[in-house]
Amino acid sequence: MTRSTPAIVILGQGSLATARRLQQLYPDALIHGLAERVEGADRSYHEFGATLRQLYQQNTPIIALCAAGIVIRTLAPLLLEKGAEPPVLAVAEDGSAVVPLLGGLGGVNVMAREMAAGLGVAAAITTSGELRFGTCLLNPPSGYALGDLELGKRFVSDLLGGESVRIEGAAPWLADAKLPEDAHARLSIHVGSAEREPTANELLIYPRSVLIACRRRLAGDSAISLAESIRQALHQANIAVQSLACLLAADTDMADRALHDAAAELGVPLRFAPAANSVVELAQQAVPQLLPPISSGDDLAIAVANQPLDPEQIGRPRGRLAVIGLGPGAAELMVPAVKAELARANDILGYETYVRMAGPFRADQVMHCTDNREEMQRARHAFELAAQGRSVVVVSSGDPGVFAMAAAVLEALHESTDPAWHNVDLEMLPGVSASLATAAQAGAPLGHDFCVLSLSDNLKPWAIIEKRLDLASQADLALAFYNPISRSRPWQLGRALEIVRQHRTPETPVVLGRDIGRPGQTLRVITLGALTPEQVDMRTMVLVGSSTTCTFPKASGGEWVYTPRWYKGS
Ligand code: SAH
Repeated sequence: MTRSTPAIVILGQGSLATARRLQQLYPDALIHGLAERVEGADRSYHEFGATLRQLYQQNTPIIALCAAGIVIRTLAPLLLEKGAEPPVLAVAEDGSAVVPLLGGLGGVNVMAREMAAGLGVAAAITTSGELRFGTCLLNPPSGYALGDLELGKRFVSDLLGGESVRIEGAAPWLADAKLPEDAHARLSIHVGSAEREPTANELLIYPRSVLIACRRRLAGDSAISLAESIRQALHQANIAVQSLACLLAADTDMADRALHDAAAELGVPLRFAPAANSVVELAQQAVPQLLPPISSGDDLAIAVANQPLDPEQIGRPRGRLAVIGLGPGAAELMVPAVKAELARANDILGYETYVRMAGPFRADQVMHCTDNREEMQRARHAFELAAQGRSVVVVSSGDPGVFAMAAAVLEALHESTDPAWHNVDLEMLPGVSASLATAAQAGAPLGHDFCVLSLSDNLKPWAIIEKRLDLASQADLALAFYNPISRSRPWQLGRALEIVRQHRTPETPVVLGRDIGRPGQTLRVITLGALTPEQVDMRTMVLVGSSTTCTFPKASGGEWVYTPRWYKGS
């Protein structure tokens, strides 16, 4: 398991130089600077507390260049909750001290040592076991799993109390530790993949050296879940479930729900390889260095290696394609699921403006910027990348399902007969659409039934637009116009307003929102009678009220606009 990329958080300009030095150790890490105080950071934030807590809850390792006390006080409310505990370190802004604070089991001391070495100082390590033995026994390196944390803590305190220890099995990293070894010791560290109950004075460490190849089950195959079948098969083979490194299945079973559920339940990655004649062959072909697999029925084969397996090197993962909505622009209006998706993406595709808006990205993330018009081509490119096992994001502004990429992506998939495209883990993640962001700023102009229209006749005949405008106006729906005007479509808005005016009075409230949620945003409340196409451009959202939409003055200046929930005659 690779450690996730840390975030470097700074409060003042004076810390930037040290932050950059630390960034050389973690080149993918971004420096987050307080917006009002720091210039030249990779990302800016407004609220230190909220930012730090969010990073912590997302399990992101945190390097904060400020007083340890500030970090402690900020994270204190989260510490009693169960859940993520990423490494958290405080670093003096001049780089003279590195203090690991939290995340002992997440490798905080390893990071503290790395950072201290990079800065040429000593790390303030306070963990007794770590100080004495030079390693944290309770945090074995990737590829190994600790049997039981509570037993482990007692074991380490016995060792600290002066006892010696025997090591059984291969534990290469312990060779460097300064453990008080003695072949006749009462305490022992046992490293192995066999299933066993720990004896009284034993610390069990499991090498993640077992792979299970499985196939899609047919309906009625078994009454118990796949995860349960796997547990039983391991038990029968006398192998500890903690030694399981990954599940492996054939490419052709890639979209099978039960396989993904089993991997999630067992907490291991699911990898895919070209289909073979049997599950035994599947395992042998994907990992030739395995010992001969033991088959357990037709649908499971257990294979044990001499060493821990690195799942990343076995076959490939199921590719993922997420079509996401960034919201109107402001970071606070982006939904958390979208933020998380951007963090996991390998490839980001979209119109350049939106890709920039979604960033900044790490050095390992690839941006594919294209022209706004090449929607279908972009959708196909996204599937090609995802079908290789990559995690791909296609960005839209606002919501991806509103005059944006989601429908284009589905159309590309619908047209394709390539099973690799259909096997991609495809998901749409919503965003705050421009009409809703604009409406919220004005009050509630869309508080009753409304109709959303794009005035662009690039992709539909103008006659259809006229017909819909006429009927929607006649039906007394409030109207939201996307793509109201552009240089290549200069007259359409004027014509649209003529149609609306046949059904609405000149006093009808109109809201014009331009660059809502972006720098320089403007919001105007006018009337249908006063509206002219010159007041509108392609970055504007036009909301036209219904017969019940009304306005009243705001205490802070300007006006509230709303459409009541009730209706005349109801
Ligand atoms: N998927 C987007 C809409 C894309 S169509 C969404 O859900 O918001 C592009 C049109 O949306 C623009 O011509 C403009 O009318 C409107 N628009 C998009 N972002 C906007 C913003 N931040 N402020 C005002 N209007 C916006």
